[in-house]
Amino acid sequence: MKISNGLRDLIFPPRCLCCSSLGKEICDACSLELQILQYRTYVGNVPVFSSIKYGSKAGRILLAAKEDGVRRADELMTDALVDSLRTAIKTLRIHPTLIPIPHSKRALRKRGRNFVAEIAGQIAAQENLPIRQVIGHNRKVRDQSQLDAHSRIGNLSGSMSVVRPLARPCEVFLIDDLITTGATIGEAVRTLEIGGFRVLAAVTAFVALPLR
Ligand SMILES: [Zn+2]
Repeated sequence: MKISNGLRDLIFPPRCLCCSSLGKEICDACSLELQILQYRTYVGNVPVFSSIKYGSKAGRILLAAKEDGVRRADELMTDALVDSLRTAIKTLRIHPTLIPIPHSKRALRKRGRNFVAEIAGQIAAQENLPIRQVIGHNRKVRDQSQLDAHSRIGNLSGSMSVVRPLARPCEVFLIDDLITTGATIGEAVRTLEIGGFRVLAAVTAFVALPLR
């Protein structure tokens, strides 16, 4: 049976994805904490443009988008990524090719969707930018969430490779959902540079400040 949105909201009123209060999918108080602003960090010489400061609320949004495919969470992530991307383009004044950082094989199996690549694909179409999926994983990596910055670098070292080489050099932006230590972006930059790409920036929705 199909029911209207209005009726559905009456029977199952939405709860805030972040704090579970009744009323909206993201309540006003949580929206305020998830404000889209402009943040800039660096991984080596590569500037990273981000829009929302990562914390427990942003963490719930990320999980809701990644693991449960909740539309409102997807939309917020997309808005944040678009904002970061536009700032990066305005700042660097180039027309980049977008390269999403792929999930590990384990994460793909768990989630059944390549979340960052999907969102990056939508954004590339919307912003009229080329997109290429050229990074592959060579081997299994450990779950990074409990690892410190140093261990993450070791965990990721040599784990990626360029699976679709380029005929000529190309200026690119990396796309990812979140930067916490910069280890993943650092490894992706290293991999792409070996493959002849020039990585001019990375763009993420969330940034954990300060980078650890
Ligand atoms: Zn809330």
